[in-house]
Amino acid sequence: MGKIVPIGQIAIVVHAGAGEDTEFILKHIPEYEKGLSDAVGAGYSILKKGGSALDAVEAAIVSLEDNKIFNAGRGSALTAAGNVEMCASIMDGKNKKAGAVAIVNNIRNPISFAHELLKSTGLMYMGGIEAVETAKDLGIKTEPDSYFVTDHQWKAFEKERAKKTNKGKIFEKYLKRLHGTVGAVALDVEGNLAAGTSTGGTEYCQPGRIGDSSIIGVGTYADNKTAAVSCTGDGEFLITEVMAYNIAATVKYKGCTIQEAIDHVILEKNEDKTGDMGAIGIDSDGNIGISFNSERMHRAWRTREDFGVKIYK
Ligand code: ASP
Repeated sequence: MGKIVPIGQIAIVVHAGAGEDTEFILKHIPEYEKGLSDAVGAGYSILKKGGSALDAVEAAIVSLEDNKIFNAGRGSALTAAGNVEMCASIMDGKNKKAGAVAIVNNIRNPISFAHELLKSTGLMYMGGIEAVETAKDLGIKTEPDSYFVTDHQWKAFEKERAKKTNKGKIFEKYLKRLHGTVGAVALDVEGNLAAGTSTGGTEYCQPGRIGDSSIIGVGTYADNKTAAVSCTGDGEFLITEVMAYNIAATVKYKGCTIQEAIDHVILEKNEDKTGDMGAIGIDSDGNIGISFNSERMHRAWRTREDFGVKIYK
């Protein structure tokens, strides 16, 4: 049986990727902090007015996708072919409905497209060129290619392209890539949980690569009876760990809090893994959980009593 969340309790947590530190991050800490604070504020203002966890998650992620400093929507990483391929997913813990999109381009807010699939179609998971056509039919906002490519990501692409090791087939030369993702989890006044994740993927990756972020149960999972979870890190590690569901299931089977579950799955169960892993969550008691094994994870949270923004441990 699920636990009953005290009516009226609201909470939101956002993340903007777990991974290694970079010179760019160090130089832009105030912009990152402001972006995280704006995103958590966008979601919280919806929750405060009695809006749904699902709408709060979408609003927080739209704010991060529109902010070019984050690797999602505008500012997405470029593949080795020099184009943007975005992935996103969203899940409603009330009825376990989900929407997810993989390898889409020109969609201004992939999270809104995923949410629209959930709301108004019987489709759950779409990808590729036809998905973009469906988005247009659904009235989802599109932008030209130039909107998505930022100076920062273009420079990162050029730097990789200039390296001898990256000439030839990328999949044969797969190295540790810089990556980034954004995500949000929320609890609304009615006790409903929701989670969402959106990404531009990994820098200079093989075109067509799909990470964890669009996969329900891996990048995103929500169930009112257990928890809402959004993950980030090296997708190749998160996928085989079925990370988001794994964390929610740990809450259920261990009967622990979301913080204990995230710590257990990321820091204990996967202690031997070399890949970056991070997750945020809210459990059905309304507790917040945040944990990561990397140098940093951009994150912010807000409840009626608490507000915080952090990048490092
Ligand atoms: N998980 C994302 C991916 O593998 C990247 C990230 O979260 O930083 O595409």
